[in-house]
Amino acid sequence: MIPTEIKILVADDMPTIRDLVKTQLRALGFKKILEAENGEQALNLLIQHEDGPDKVKMIISDWNMPKMSGLEFLKQVRATEHWANLPFVLLTSESERDQVTEAILAGVSQYVVKPFAGKAFEEKMKSAWAKHQKK
Ligand SMILES: [Mg+2]
Repeated sequence: MIPTEIKILVADDMPTIRDLVKTQLRALGFKKILEAENGEQALNLLIQHEDGPDKVKMIISDWNMPKMSGLEFLKQVRATEHWANLPFVLLTSESERDQVTEAILAGVSQYVVKPFAGKAFEEKMKSAWAKHQKK
């Protein structure tokens, strides 16, 4: 199980998707949620919350975003030793399925195809979290 007190960073350029993700997360008991509109903002928030008890413990990010895409963001995260083992869930759409292969090569933990239902979302979250707990 994922501890519900962890801080989760959500990045998506569409406010409706961010709201959907937040609603799902709150339904699962998570309360500490940071939001970003693009990869650049997400990276800055991650840097601001990289240490201490309040650090980001999980990322949920869209692929297509202005300024910095989800893939570029993922690559930056994985290239940093500090974040190499941080659970990272990619949000993608049905039409972007080819991107999943690229994201897997770049070290994504899990991916969720939009639009998604609560149960599928929860399973992907748990799977992404579990992947990083034994290292
Ligand atoms: Mg987008």
